[in-house]
Amino acid sequence: MNAVSAVPAPLLADRQARTRVNRRLAALGVPAKACSLCYTLKGLDAFPVHQGGFRGRLARCKECHRAGQARLRKDPAYRAAERQQQRPYDRKRALEDDRRAYMLGRSQLRRALEVGAEYDGHQPEDLALHWDDEGYYACVCCGGPYEHLDHNVPLIRGGSHTLDNLLPLCQDCNLAKSGKCPYRFYAERFPALKPYLAPFFDVHERLTEEELAAREAAVNDSSEAA
Ligand SMILES: [Zn+2]
Ligand SMILES: [Zn+2]
Repeated sequence: MNAVSAVPAPLLADRQARTRVNRRLAALGVPAKACSLCYTLKGLDAFPVHQGGFRGRLARCKECHRAGQARLRKDPAYRAAERQQQRPYDRKRALEDDRRAYMLGRSQLRRALEVGAEYDGHQPEDLALHWDDEGYYACVCCGGPYEHLDHNVPLIRGGSHTLDNLLPLCQDCNLAKSGKCPYRFYAERFPALKPYLAPFFDVHERLTEEELAAREAAVNDSSEAA
């Protein structure tokens, strides 16, 4: 359904004007908005569903989106330009992620120190910067939103509290992973990778039996206290 005319409106090429019009349409409950690429007013159902998008839809209409995706695949220069364009939005999201990384880093540092894990002296804000650099904005296992800071090699297995051992994971993946050897865990999740991961199973268990037992006891104590 095209609730409003499907004719491009030159006025709508101006971003601010378009935003005003789109907000007004939303306030009026009109199920339509202007496409950010072809500047055409179209019914909402002409836009791909997109969680977090204005009115739950992408800013570009399905037609423009399809054309854009095709061009992205074929044209490397266009791909680079698009990435540049998306930066302000990504930056905003990255700031939220930085904040989350900071809070997670702060809560885990004390626990790591309590169990005597090797620590590289990084501060919670360093973790945020590091994840920013690495592009870790999602659970590294399933790609969903992350809520947890995971020690890739778990502390009970002698893992360190160092930047290279800290990864964002979602709650489900983190619970599933728990204290497992990370290579075993990834092999369970992605069976096709098992032959490649198998040589690394348990390589991190370089602590002696005694050291492992002491570490395990310390970790259990600190999680009971938390
Ligand atoms: Zn369009
Ligand atoms: Zn996950």
